[in-house]
Amino acid sequence: MDEAYWCEGCGVELQTENPDRPGYVPPAALKREHVICKRCFRIRHYNEVTPMEADPDEVLSMLREIGEKEALVVQVVDLFDFTGSWIPGIQRHTGGNPILILGNKLDLFPKSAKVQRLKEWVYRSAKELGVKPAEVVLTSAAKGYRLDEVVEAIDKQRQGRDVYVVGTANVGKSTLINRLLKEFGDGEESITTSPYPGTTLDTIHIPLDDGKEIVDMPGILRRDRMSEWVDPKELKAIIPDQEIKPKVYQLNDGQTLFFGGLARMDYIEGERQPFVCSVANSLYIHRTKLEKAEEIWVKHRGELLIPPEEPDSLPPLRRHSFHLNGTQKQDLVISGLGWIATGKARGQVDLWVPEGVRVEIRPSIL
Ligand code: GDP
Repeated sequence: MDEAYWCEGCGVELQTENPDRPGYVPPAALKREHVICKRCFRIRHYNEVTPMEADPDEVLSMLREIGEKEALVVQVVDLFDFTGSWIPGIQRHTGGNPILILGNKLDLFPKSAKVQRLKEWVYRSAKELGVKPAEVVLTSAAKGYRLDEVVEAIDKQRQGRDVYVVGTANVGKSTLINRLLKEFGDGEESITTSPYPGTTLDTIHIPLDDGKEIVDMPGILRRDRMSEWVDPKELKAIIPDQEIKPKVYQLNDGQTLFFGGLARMDYIEGERQPFVCSVANSLYIHRTKLEKAEEIWVKHRGELLIPPEEPDSLPPLRRHSFHLNGTQKQDLVISGLGWIATGKARGQVDLWVPEGVRVEIRPSIL
């Protein structure tokens, strides 16, 4: 191969020598018009993935390059997992460039959710993480919600500059870029999207009319989301793909909820109150008595309590204790899995999640 070619799916440089390295294509495939690498081919046609990740250090140094340019930074976040999908310290990497936040996966929220309220929530949360967004737009890349607003906001905020689209893996950045390709590009190409983290391996460039471009940066992996630990075959059970129907449990203290075999919530102390679970509709939730919880966990994990089918595939559970303040509804968030909204009563809750998975408590998003 004398000339350099790039995969239209994930942006990686193509090569014909080593089938086990990123960017492999059989030599004959190079003759095609829209060439994609073997990995993207398998994701698209067989829904299979070979784990191959963009190097995290390399991705961070690519981000740093943005800081040296005049550009608009578009940070895509997953509304379903806001802090878990945030790029830690993004403002340090991107210099003084304005940041437009696109909150994706709006379709997962109940139709009754107020978009303006959610937007304000995103503004506030971004500020707490050290970023004052130039603008916040909520969208659903998959369903095509509010794309006009997305396109308008990018056009307005970029003021003749290049646009860098950044995000952690799985926020739906590739899905969104495909939408933008249709809006800004000639509509011919498309890039690879999949439920597996880290599909885009290198930068992808979309030329704009004024000689500038939209640059899609590879996703940054965050190891502290539940979705990073679950076997790709079982991800469908935990990554929601349609409007979430929250499940309500009225609990007395001394009761436990299991979320498949992935996590557990013990209501240790407090008045009877509702716990509203926003997780993928297909995830099995099992209610039991706290005193029996350990026995049930040991006996049924991997059978009744799934995923995971292989309990040893996850790190052991670690306990995190939370105090419910008794003044407002709060969300107990398990990164990459969802959240449990509490009632307004004071109380004490223990969350058990695999070691390394992030949990937090926040004022209720809904
Ligand atoms: P990337 O890793 O950020 O490039 O993410 P992808 O575009 O590959 O999408 C990751 C997963 O999120 C896939 O399973 C997508 O189908 C899903 N996804 C992307 N956009 C949306 C959306 O607007 N709503 C929902 N519910 N899922 C989405």
